[in-house]
Amino acid sequence: MDDKEKAENVAPSGTGAQGERLEFTTEIRKLLDILIHSLYTHKEIFLRELISNASDALDKAHFRSLVEKNLRDPEIPLEIRLEVDKDNKVLTVSDTGIGMTRQELVENIGTIAHSGSLSFLQSVAQNQSKPSDFNLIGQFGVGFYSVFMVAKKVEILTLPADPNSGANLWCCEGGGDYTIVPSQKEKRGTEIRVYLKDEETAFLEINRLRDVVRHYSDFISYPIKLKGEQVNKLSALWSRASNEIKEEEYDEFYNYLAHTQEKPLSHIHLSFDAPLQFRGILFIPRTIPWDMRFELPEKWKGVHLYVKRVFIQADCEELMPNYLRFVRGIVESDDLPINISRETLQENQIIMKIRKSLVRKVLDHLETLSKDKADDYHQLWRNFGKFLKQGYRLDYENREKLAVLFRFNSSACKDEKELISLNDYVSRMLPGQTKIYYVSGEDRQAIETSPHLEIFRRKGIEVLYMSDPVDDFLCEDLRDYQGKQLAGIDQEDLALDDVKPRVQPEEQKEEKKPEQNVDVKDSDIESFLGFLKTTLHDRVSDVRISKRLTGSPCCLVSSKEAPGVGMQRFMKMMNEKYEMPKRVLEINRDNVLIQVLAKLYVAKPQAPALAHCCHQLLDNTLLLEGSPLDTRGMVPRLQEMMETLTQLLLKQ
Ligand code: ADP
Repeated sequence: MDDKEKAENVAPSGTGAQGERLEFTTEIRKLLDILIHSLYTHKEIFLRELISNASDALDKAHFRSLVEKNLRDPEIPLEIRLEVDKDNKVLTVSDTGIGMTRQELVENIGTIAHSGSLSFLQSVAQNQSKPSDFNLIGQFGVGFYSVFMVAKKVEILTLPADPNSGANLWCCEGGGDYTIVPSQKEKRGTEIRVYLKDEETAFLEINRLRDVVRHYSDFISYPIKLKGEQVNKLSALWSRASNEIKEEEYDEFYNYLAHTQEKPLSHIHLSFDAPLQFRGILFIPRTIPWDMRFELPEKWKGVHLYVKRVFIQADCEELMPNYLRFVRGIVESDDLPINISRETLQENQIIMKIRKSLVRKVLDHLETLSKDKADDYHQLWRNFGKFLKQGYRLDYENREKLAVLFRFNSSACKDEKELISLNDYVSRMLPGQTKIYYVSGEDRQAIETSPHLEIFRRKGIEVLYMSDPVDDFLCEDLRDYQGKQLAGIDQEDLALDDVKPRVQPEEQKEEKKPEQNVDVKDSDIESFLGFLKTTLHDRVSDVRISKRLTGSPCCLVSSKEAPGVGMQRFMKMMNEKYEMPKRVLEINRDNVLIQVLAKLYVAKPQAPALAHCCHQLLDNTLLLEGSPLDTRGMVPRLQEMMETLTQLLLKQ
């Protein structure tokens, strides 16, 4: 705490003996309004939130008592107490933790610090009628305010552990304002008095309270006492042997940690003795956690660090790389000093070693999951696959492990939901096939219109479909897998002659044969090719006869050195001035349109429609790929062609 803050705490400005009436921010007012009228079915989570805050306050007091001598009530037992007053319908949750100064009451309770709360509020308000969406309340962890789902009035009596600050009483009746009055409290800590609504008095029943505490807060590492009896088990789940822990216990621990009602997708129980000693439990969420969905990094519930049972830091970034930020859990080490600070954490060798083994453990676990529970793994991939792909760019050391985890849709999949691994692909490669082929595009449907796929279909060569925006980066980085080079199907010189197709009778039958064959000479095609080159010389680097096309009239191919087309599109999006490298236009000698155009060119080289057709052929190819193109020239050109065509038809 800095001096300015201390001074304010000694003499709270403008408070006076009568206290002060303060307004909530608009955001909090809206939040309160939603919570007070909430139809949420798990209102008991308010207790989880209050106990969790109490536990945090005890953690802070515990930690400070180890590094500072001067705290108030140094001998006081660290615990949480629940008390009921049936006559006045009051439930009290009290702790002997760090407490709050007047200023902290205003800052922590009177405002919402994080920016995404408004988007949350809006989404809840819009979806009030849909209970499933309304369950977001449980997931969002609205924290302290959830108490207003059951309370008509709440008081917070709090005395900070800092001996220079006095006690205060905060009170709110759910309206737009609250009061803070200087007060008296014998011992440090916080007492939350919940004046229950008439219909919520079940929370005064001891059995009900005991059940709720056991369900949501059994893992709290401080005693939770109800009528003098300790309700929680107190043993840290992660320090018990994994074979003695029931699945429900893991689930409940996850619910508590991640502030959610949902079961985790899976968990990893860690126990290392050498060379480092650390324990912990990591969870993989089943769906995208709310803090990630609403982009609230300040509310991130990542991996928490404990040292010798003392809580050190929530969401310890040093323990888990950014690309694994969906992993939630707790890690406890005995090898670190308790007074480790955020700054020193970054350079600490032990932390770095722990992080290394955590990453490896998580990646190995994901691989096992992908083998043993493919459906679960696919669900994980859909939610978090893009993070793992980002990891490939950042985590050089684990590239091999990451590549094994990648999943893609491919031409061999029956629909867009099916996913295959690179191992699946390699195991199915055809005799003579040396490369892993991919194509990028908006989605499966758009990709399948690509003329480049024709030769691959004909030969029965599988092609990976890359439709995630991060795939364009991934393809730049993922140069090869198991010694097989990755290659875009739009590259020039495909060299597929050596690939021996497996018998593909179905595919062969489906192949459309040209409806009619125009009697055209090779020399006509050659002359037309020359015309195309001159007409399009500003727009393409060359025009050639294609070996890959079997149906479409033409396609564009890139040089091997150029970045992938997806990457080029991205660069163009970022910088309008970026010049996409010119590509080679390949034309299909067997396509009727090409044949007719060639004949027309030889017969009437001056026909104005010819140049229009050349440009339109190219624009059609760009349109199909979803590449940017200048449409200004296209509309008048198409209009003119339509005019010519309709006049011709009229004359017939
Ligand atoms: P969160 O716990 O997610 O930060 P809350 O709305 O539950 O959000 O609490 C807001 C803040 O109020 C806490 O971060 C903490 O600083 C303070 N607070 C809440 N309850 C207590 C308590 N029992 N003791 C001390 N501080 C508390």
